[in-house]
Amino acid sequence: MMGLATDGGLLVPSQIPAISAETLNSWRKLSYPELAFQVMKPFVGDAIPEKELKELVNASYATFDTAEVVPVRPMGSSGLFVAELYHGPTLAFKDVALQFLGNLFAAILKKRGGRLNILGATSGDTGSAAIHGVRGKEGIEIFIMYPEGRVSPLQERQMATVPDANVHCIAIEGSFDDGQRVLKECFNDLPFKSAMHLGAVNSVNWARILAQVVYYFWGSFRVHETLGKEIPLQVCVPTGNFGDIFAGYVAQKMGAPIRRLLLATNENDILSRFFNTGIYTRGEVHPTLSPSMDIQVASNFERYLYYRVGEDATKVKALMTGFAKGEAIRLPGQDPQFAAGRGDTAMTLATIKKYWELHKVLLDPHGAVGVAVAEANPLKDTVTLCLETAHPGKFPAAIGQAVGDESLASHPFLEKLKSLPLRKTILKPELPAIEEFMKKNCNG
Ligand SMILES: *Cc1c(COP(=O)(O)O)cnc(C)c1O
Repeated sequence: MMGLATDGGLLVPSQIPAISAETLNSWRKLSYPELAFQVMKPFVGDAIPEKELKELVNASYATFDTAEVVPVRPMGSSGLFVAELYHGPTLAFKDVALQFLGNLFAAILKKRGGRLNILGATSGDTGSAAIHGVRGKEGIEIFIMYPEGRVSPLQERQMATVPDANVHCIAIEGSFDDGQRVLKECFNDLPFKSAMHLGAVNSVNWARILAQVVYYFWGSFRVHETLGKEIPLQVCVPTGNFGDIFAGYVAQKMGAPIRRLLLATNENDILSRFFNTGIYTRGEVHPTLSPSMDIQVASNFERYLYYRVGEDATKVKALMTGFAKGEAIRLPGQDPQFAAGRGDTAMTLATIKKYWELHKVLLDPHGAVGVAVAEANPLKDTVTLCLETAHPGKFPAAIGQAVGDESLASHPFLEKLKSLPLRKTILKPELPAIEEFMKKNCNG
C-alpha cells in the first residue's frame, strides 16, 4: 500500500519464484480465478491466508462479463491469436489489475482497522478503472480529478455516473497538467497527506503487476489448447508505461512458455527505440489514436532496468537520477527476450480495417498497434499472442475513421450510461479548493 519505496524507487519482489514444469502442467486446466490464485500465492506468502486470497481473487473476476475472464481467439489460420483483456466493468485491461487491487486494499484496511482516501488525476481511462475498483468498498473514498470538457463524453460518463457515495468526481477548470500539478501539491502537503491517509493507485503499484502476470500463463495455455501442441510463444504487448509488458517479463522469469516479448508502441516510441538501439532518451509526446500509450517516460521501465543491470539497485538509482537530469540511459547489447516495433497511425487504421474485413474482428486502436507490429515481426517456428487492451466501443471516432461506421463500435454497457445522471463537482485546480473539498467529503 506504500506505492513507492521509502527512497523514492520502485518496489520489486525479493525473489521471483521458479515454477517447475510439473506445476506448470497442473495449471493448464484451471479456471482463470483458480490460476490467478496459484500464480499469486508464492508472492503473497502468509501475508494473506489462502482462503481469504481465494475469496479476493474470485470476487475480483466475478465482475467480468464472461466466465473465461480473458477469452483468447485465433485470427483464422494466420498464426495470430488475440487475448481479449477488456471484459471487465470499464472495458479496458486495467480492470484486470484494479478490480483485484480494490478488493485487496479493502481487505487489508479491514484487518488493520485503517482507512484510505485515494486521490488521482486522469486524462481519461485510468480514472474509471480505479473508480470501479474501489466503488462501494468500506474504508475507502476515491477522488478523481479530470479536466472539465477535455475528456470524451463517454470517458466522463464511465466515471461520473457511478452512484456509490464513496466516489467523488472532480471536474477541474483547467487542463490535465493542472490536475497533475495540484495532485503533486496535495501529496507534497505532508501534514494534509498524513492527516488524510492519502493514497494513490498509480501504475507503479506492485500488486497491479502481479495481477497482470496471470494472463500470460492463461493466454499461453489457451493457445496451446487450440494448437494441440505446447510450444513457447511470442507475446505482443501494446505498451505505454511498461507495466503490462513488465508483467510478461515476470511471467517469463517464472517459467511461462514465452519465447519472446514483442513490445509495440505508437509514434510515442521511447521504448521501441530503446529495445532497438540500447539508448533510452525522452522524446516529445504526440497525441495519437491510442491515447493510453501517448507516454514518453515509462514509469515501470525502472523495474526492468533493475534486472538488466544484474539486480544492482545502486546502479539503477544512478541511471534514473541521470535520466531525471536529462541524460540518456545507454545499455549496450540486445536483450534476446525482447523485440520491439512501432505502429503509426496509418498502420493502426489499416490494421483495424483489415481485421474487420478478413475476420469480422473489431480491434481497438491500442490492440491494433500491437497487431500491426506483430504482423511485421513474426517469429520462426511459433505463433504470436497479441494482447487486446480495450473494447473498440471506447474509441468510436477511430473505428469510424478506419471502417467508415462508428456505430459498429458500440457496447450495450456504454449505451446504458447515456441515460444516467452525472455526479460531479466543478472546482478550480487550486490546492485550497481541492483540499477543502476532500476534507468535507473524506472518510472519517
Ligand atoms: C494503460 C493502457 C495501455 C498501456 O499499458 P501500460 O501498462 O502502460 O503499458 C494500453 N492500452 C490501453 C487501452 C490502456 O488503457
